[in-house]
Amino acid sequence: YKAKAARSGHHVYRTSDDSHGDTRLRTLEELRNALTGHELVLHYQPKIELASGAVHGVEALVRWQHPVRGLLFPDAFLALAEESGLMPDLTQVVLAQALDQAARWHASGQPLSVAVNVSGSSLVDEGLPERIGAMLGARGLPATSLQVEVTEDFLMADRARAHDILSRLRARGVRIAVDDFGTGYSSLAYLRDLPIDQLKLDRSFVVPMTSDARAAALVSSTVILAHSLGLTMVAEGIEDGESYAALARYGCDQGQGYYMSRPVPAADFDVWLARRHPEAMALWRHHGEPL
Ligand code: C2E
Ligand code: MG
Ligand code: MG
Ligand code: MG
Repeated sequence: YKAKAARSGHHVYRTSDDSHGDTRLRTLEELRNALTGHELVLHYQPKIELASGAVHGVEALVRWQHPVRGLLFPDAFLALAEESGLMPDLTQVVLAQALDQAARWHASGQPLSVAVNVSGSSLVDEGLPERIGAMLGARGLPATSLQVEVTEDFLMADRARAHDILSRLRARGVRIAVDDFGTGYSSLAYLRDLPIDQLKLDRSFVVPMTSDARAAALVSSTVILAHSLGLTMVAEGIEDGESYAALARYGCDQGQGYYMSRPVPAADFDVWLARRHPEAMALWRHHGEPL
């Protein structure tokens, strides 16, 4: 393992001083194989238009179908991918899979837009906007089929670079969302000049909203802030009808959460979509009781 890792130029973990290191090194080697094999899978969670209940698009969330350990969630392997320099490769694999799925949905008459999480370390890659353009073109997809989710920390770390990369993506028609809005070491200044389309309010504000007046005030004023800047607002972490109804009342444009659907494989998502009464979510809002 060690020799192979060193040859490919990646960071090598120390193995001599503890048994933990061995586990780590094996996992890194396995992750590298997972990227070239077919062990990374995407689950999809709908982004719902709160007023109408319509499905606006989906967010792609990566999972690792590990042959021994089972289905692993991002918190089990993203940090390792980041530390070991594998993140740009992971982003490439995720983008390709997400756009393949977007093309299948387009072909079946469901032109859903797919949101992909792109980490800051992948966004420093100058060639990314062109590669994304080529990937869309190869599948005959309009640029509006893709949305890129970036975090505040990336926007703050290097404003000039963020501006350059995001402008080039946006010039192609790819829409940009700021993920986990409100949790970063943020300054509101970037909202003034960065080319973005959407704010995704972190679920740590959304979950306590119905029991905490201050949390509710933050949510409703963030909706006003987003709209006055010409941005759309998405709330993540909607876990009950009460939160859904409150967000709709505040004028929040879209929402995601377990109340509507957990992230699921594409086949399950298709079943959910086919069975669903599009107006069901919105009806809750009008009648004030769950269906
Ligand atoms: P995120 O982009 O903020 O994604 C939202 C997370 O909240 C997802 O966790 C989702 O499953 C979860 N979630 C959705 N609705 C609810 C809800 O109602 N309640 C609760 N408690 N949770 C909800 P997941 O899938 O474990 O992903 C965690 C994070 O990993 C993501 O946060 C994102 O930052 C990162 N991530 C996921 N996929 C990718 C990827 O392909 N590339 C990169 N770079 N990062 C990814
Ligand atoms: Mg996200
Ligand atoms: Mg988020
Ligand atoms: Mg998050």
